Amino acid sequence: MATRSEEMLHMNGDACVKPRENGDAVNKHNEAAARGDVNLPGQNGHSELPENFTFSSEPSLEDIRRMQAQFTEERDWNQFHQPRNLLLAMVGEVGEVAELFQWRGEVAEGLPDWTESEREHLAQELSDVLIYLVELAEKCHVDLPQAVLRKMALNRLKYPASKVHGSAKKYTEYQD
Ligand SMILES: [Mg+2]
Repeated sequence: MATRSEEMLHMNGDACVKPRENGDAVNKHNEAAARGDVNLPGQNGHSELPENFTFSSEPSLEDIRRMQAQFTEERDWNQFHQPRNLLLAMVGEVGEVAELFQWRGEVAEGLPDWTESEREHLAQELSDVLIYLVELAEKCHVDLPQAVLRKMALNRLKYPASKVHGSAKKYTEYQD
């Protein structure tokens, strides 16, 4: 059964990736950022104008899958990275994200009261979540970018904008 959170695709031991060698998408992006050719929101994704916040176009989910596959292969860790273990690792990382928000009360968009160090810590933990999510999808043979498109199409059918605008009701609560 769908939940509200399934629609909220604002969406990432520690998972680690490293950029590929020369010519990879990450390096090209970083070079472009250094030249000022792309609009980087900041080291940790913070923007002065949260309403205009956007992601960088690279790396793609496939780039992330490939970088993590290389990282895992180089360490002979595939023997540990079965789907169930990856799921538990991802949930553990979600817990690390939750820890950063624990006891703070409500937090405003853009995290205006957070220090740069806290923002970077959040960026790291969200990345751990995403890295494990991508590897879990890979090991389950789920083509995640295409699956997201299919799921968002289902969400649009389930929650027609004309019907649910401004309401937080679940789809089962709407009358036809
Ligand atoms: Mg972590």
